[in-house]
Amino acid sequence: MNNPANESLTRERASLLAELAHDIVDQRVLDAIGRVPREEFVAAEAAPIAYQNRPLPIGHGQTISQPLMVALMTQALMLTGNEKVLEVGTGSGYQAALISLLAAHVVSVERVPELAAAAAARLDRLGYSNVEVHAVTDKLGWPEVAPYDAIVVTAASPDVPRPLLDQLAMNGRLVVPVGSRDLQELVRIVRSPEGAQRHNLGACRFVPLVGRGAWPEAR
Ligand code: SAH
Repeated sequence: MNNPANESLTRERASLLAELAHDIVDQRVLDAIGRVPREEFVAAEAAPIAYQNRPLPIGHGQTISQPLMVALMTQALMLTGNEKVLEVGTGSGYQAALISLLAAHVVSVERVPELAAAAAARLDRLGYSNVEVHAVTDKLGWPEVAPYDAIVVTAASPDVPRPLLDQLAMNGRLVVPVGSRDLQELVRIVRSPEGAQRHNLGACRFVPLVGRGAWPEAR
């Protein structure tokens, strides 16, 4: 605990939380961010800068999003603690860990098998026992245990993916970045008996969602 590197991370974590508190109103989300060790989810070289409010590389051309974006997306899911949540794009497992503190169960799917395996091992080692990670190939989401109370897509989609709407429970929330490969709008869809309601939550930039119904594999 007297390790100077740890002390500096503790300080930087507190200052990140203070910065996020300007935009994030859900105190549960802020508390959860304070409890997930982001340095464990990034490459060892990036650990000293794990609490800077910026995206960081996680290998295989993918990135862990900026903490503010992770917090905004998580807040937009409006979780109370009882939900079954689907995350599309496990990446490092960071956002799955965060959501696991705010919901009952998390199913997270990832198309890069190496990332899925590393994230599953990391979440297990860190004791996040209510998260299951699956490597997926050509289908979108994880219909096996649908419907979900909330679905978050952490990669950019050209449109709101129909297969994910089909996996959403009544009154469920789907949060997904929608737009071009270079720029998207963060969108929340709420499924109601009258149909799906759409809310725009602001501009954002994500790596592409790849596969059927999304973008072709980058060459
Ligand atoms: N949420 C992650 C960051 C994810 S980056 C974290 O907290 O670290 C987006 C991820 O989506 C990448 O790992 C990418 O491989 C994955 N991805 C892209 N298309 C996908 C698809 N169709 N299904 C599942 N995962 C996909």
